[in-house]
Parts: sequence; C-alpha cells; structure tokens
Amino acid sequence: MQDDIVRLIELQKLDLEILKLERSKAEVPEALKKAKEKKENLEGKLANLTAIIEEKEAQRKLFEEELKEEIKRLKQTQARLTQIRGTREYQILLAEIEEIKRTNKQKEEEILKLMEEIEKLTEEKNKIEEELNKITQIFDEENKKFEELCQKLKEEIAKLSEKRAQMAKKVSSGILRKYEMIRQKKGGIGIAPVDNGVCEGCHMAIPPQLYIEIQKDNRFHECPHCKRIIYFKRYYHQEPLEEPNLKEAKASS
Ligand SMILES: [Zn+2]
Repeated sequence: MQDDIVRLIELQKLDLEILKLERSKAEVPEALKKAKEKKENLEGKLANLTAIIEEKEAQRKLFEEELKEEIKRLKQTQARLTQIRGTREYQILLAEIEEIKRTNKQKEEEILKLMEEIEKLTEEKNKIEEELNKITQIFDEENKKFEELCQKLKEEIAKLSEKRAQMAKKVSSGILRKYEMIRQKKGGIGIAPVDNGVCEGCHMAIPPQLYIEIQKDNRFHECPHCKRIIYFKRYYHQEPLEEPNLKEAKASS
C-alpha cells in the first residue's frame, strides 16, 4: 500500500465533508427566501404608494394656494363693484366675478377629490405597513436562525480545514498538486477507486490492460476517461471505509 494513496483517500473524504458543509451554508432556507421575497415586495408597494400620496399631497397644496389667491382676487373684484358707475363696466365685472366663482368651485371639488384619494391611499398604506411589520419580524427570526446555522457550519468547516491542511502536508507535493487540479475541475472528486474494472469517479470501464496493472502494482494511475487518480479499491478498502487506520496502513507499506 502507498502512504500517499491512503492519505489522499482520507483527504478526499475531508474535502467532500467540507464541500457538503459549504453547500449547506450557501443554501438559503425556503422559509427565509419566501419571507425575503414578501418583504421586498411589500417594501416596493409601500414606496410606490408613498410616492403617489406625496404627489397628490403636493397637488392638493398647490390647488389650495391657488384657491386662496383666487378668493383674494374675488374679494378685490367684488370691492371694485361698489366704485363702478357705468352699466357696461359693471356687467363686465359681474361676469368676471361669476367666472372666478365658477373656477373656484371647480378647484374646491378637485381638492376634495384629492383629499378623498389621499385618505383611501393612506388607509391602504397603513395596511401594507402592518403587513410589512409582521413579515419583517418573521424575516428577522428566520434570518437569525440561518445566521446561527452558518456560524456553526463555519466553525465546523474551520475545524475540518485545519485537519485537512495537516493531512495535505503529508502527501507528496506532485501528486497533491494533481489531486487538487482534478478535484477543482471534476466537481470535488480528485481520486476515485476502481472496482470490477470500473472507475467509480466516472462510472466507465477502464481498459483491461490498465485494470491488470492497477492490481499488480500500486503506483499511481490515471483514469483515461475522467483523468482522476485511480486506485484498486479492494486493495485499499479492506478496512471499513469510514475509518481508514493510517498507522496500520503505514506500517504495512
Ligand atoms: Zn474515471
């Protein structure tokens, strides 16, 4: 048995564990995703409504200012009436007063309409704010849960990474480099066992000659299909897969 292969098998195990933890860390829970989506949706609606209300509020203020001015003008025009003697002039002024009154009434109606609209929109806004408060609470809780989980995972990953670094130091640099390169290219698996003539990395049969060689010597071989480092499974996995005994492996090699 080769120390390097025994260690690479162990390294591969650690790398897969780390990969699994990294994936759990990257996987945002459904409940959190849903809460976030709902929250963002409501925030969008709220911003939209707020903008519309502000616009209508501004319009209302403008109309009120205009109305104030027109009421002032109406009073001045009405005051002029008393100073006028000529009938024709009087008639013209009367018509002007009527016109001001008419447009003022229109403006008053428009202001009323705006106020009603603003009231309705504000009611809607309050409802959305209430909903948003509820969903924000849910989001915060879910987010906290996920953050705590991530923290735990991070700690586990750090522990495993430390273990992995120690193990990697013991592997010859050439073969380690090859393992790293393939692992990165091939979905996290750099070394694979061969059993019954089949590479378990890519599930393809290796050429018969190579299969014979792999059983005869325990040098490094490479799968011609997936390029992973391969080894004869029965040779290395006589012990249970979970706990390869490194000391024993070392002593017998
Ligand atoms: Zn293969």
